[in-house]
Amino acid sequence: MALITKAVKGTQDVLPRDSHKNQFIESTVLEIAGEFGFKEIRTPVFEHTELFTRSVGDTTDVVQKEMYTFNDKGGRSVTLRPEGTAGAARAFLEHGLGNEPLPQKVSYVTSCYRYEKPQAGRLREFHQFGVECYGTESPAADAEIISLANEIFGFLGVDRIHLEINSIGCPECRKKYHDALRDYFTSVKDELCEDCRGRLDRNPMRILDCKVPHCRELVKDAPVILDYLCGDCRAHFESVQKYLDAMNIMYDINPKIVRGLDYYTRTVFEFVSDAIGAQGTVCGGGRYDGLIEELGGKHTPALGFAMGLERLMLLLDSLGVELPEAKKCDMFIASIGEKASFKAAELALELRQSGLTAEFDVVGRSLKAQMKYADKLGAQFTAVIGDDDLEAGSVKVKNMKTGEVTELPLKDFADLFMEMSLRAAAAGLQDYIEDGKAVDVSKFLGGLI
Ligand code: ATP
Ligand code: MG
Repeated sequence: MALITKAVKGTQDVLPRDSHKNQFIESTVLEIAGEFGFKEIRTPVFEHTELFTRSVGDTTDVVQKEMYTFNDKGGRSVTLRPEGTAGAARAFLEHGLGNEPLPQKVSYVTSCYRYEKPQAGRLREFHQFGVECYGTESPAADAEIISLANEIFGFLGVDRIHLEINSIGCPECRKKYHDALRDYFTSVKDELCEDCRGRLDRNPMRILDCKVPHCRELVKDAPVILDYLCGDCRAHFESVQKYLDAMNIMYDINPKIVRGLDYYTRTVFEFVSDAIGAQGTVCGGGRYDGLIEELGGKHTPALGFAMGLERLMLLLDSLGVELPEAKKCDMFIASIGEKASFKAAELALELRQSGLTAEFDVVGRSLKAQMKYADKLGAQFTAVIGDDDLEAGSVKVKNMKTGEVTELPLKDFADLFMEMSLRAAAAGLQDYIEDGKAVDVSKFLGGLI
């Protein structure tokens, strides 16, 4: 039978066999952000369109070409969020978070929507982990969020990635820079792509972010913003570098980074890897001191970054980084006959209430087929209950890895089983360490917990 439809182009399903990887990544990034004092914020998947045109900037590719915008049934123009910063900033303002102790530090894992050409690392629905920090102008905060991203890559074992930083100054220094850029690009106007010719008047810095190969060539000889920074912006940028040096974070200064969104000021940065092809920017961020005011709030310097989670996973994959395995079934309880099946249901529930993963036969299969299924689940232990066991009041539990069989009373079954399986896990850990793999203990435990 032909399927009536398939997933929309540029979207991805995460299947049960893989979802533990996403869960691990998502909980890891939020947890590390928590260690830095960032607390999770959740905002809606759609917002009034003007929030994005105003904050992302109406000369950006995102607003001009990539947004999923539509009128709802009430005739309001709404847009699926193309990124997380604007929604978080709106919520910050709407709920008066600026009146709470500053800086306010928020984090999120969200889906984002952009109508782009789908390819490896570029989707129409993708996911970002992001952080935002409101209410500080200090370069220490810039270095702190960079260090957070750096810690995440370090924790996950990503080594083929490097940090590039730049400062794009404040609106004051940028005026002079825009003039210099316009002069330069006007001299090569005929060679620019059509989009860039439009950008020349509206927002010449956008040309620096063009992906067309010939435009990229022309960009190589363009004036660089660092030569146009005012004294304050220069001092700010130097201080960011001193903090990074103090934390032993390696970086390169790349004066061509401008980022794709209009709200950035001063520090901008990217973590780039050459291991995943053209879409190598896994994390991008920077300061946006003017955004909160632009959205109607009082002047509140702020900054943040977003990490593309699909790109991060591509990178982990291509570097061969092993993530903890999915949690396996702790116990499969097979049964023979109806009475035993009732007991299996009861024991499985008891185990689940103790926090273990337990399954029993809910299909009505033969014993042989039940055991085959238990094997496919990777059950660590199995038990087979028959009428005899019910009478005897105990059941044999088999450790599927070692083959060891232990008889456990049906009364207090869950408690006794828990004790036994912890002992088995401890013995497993001991073997693991003796194998000389102690460095991977956290991964071993990740598989157990
Ligand atoms: P690019 O230059 O690759 O288009 P961008 O400048 O548009 O990226 P941001 O808006 O800064 O990216 O988004 C932050 C991060 O989100 C990117 O560094 C990337 O990891 C991820 N990202 C952006 N767009 C996509 C997409 N279409 N599909 C998958 N991930 C994306
Ligand atoms: Mg983009």
